[in-house]
Amino acid sequence: MGIQRKETYRPERCQHEVTFYQSNWPNHKQCDRKHLPGSQFCKQHDPAAIAARRAESDKRGEIAWLKRRKEFRAEQFFDALKRIADGDNNPRETAREAIASFLDAPT
Ligand SMILES: [Zn+2]
Repeated sequence: MGIQRKETYRPERCQHEVTFYQSNWPNHKQCDRKHLPGSQFCKQHDPAAIAARRAESDKRGEIAWLKRRKEFRAEQFFDALKRIADGDNNPRETAREAIASFLDAPT
């Protein structure tokens, strides 16, 4: 890491080192964007912005995974509902067991 060619270093620009390819060979240069006020990096390469984007992405991933887990358990939930509809003697307990088995299952 670090800018190899000191003569091309531009302090008004983002300090991130960008990799680009010429004839399939990787080359490195300083990011061309201006840095954010109070930061040495542009909006894309600022560590706080990266962490915020990652947190947002993780949140979306968790929501999507929870939805998928519910889909995986649809048959089990349907069976519990069918038992309740068929006159289960303790419908609340049947529903609680189905929900608890979902919540206790490894993610
Ligand atoms: Zn940058």
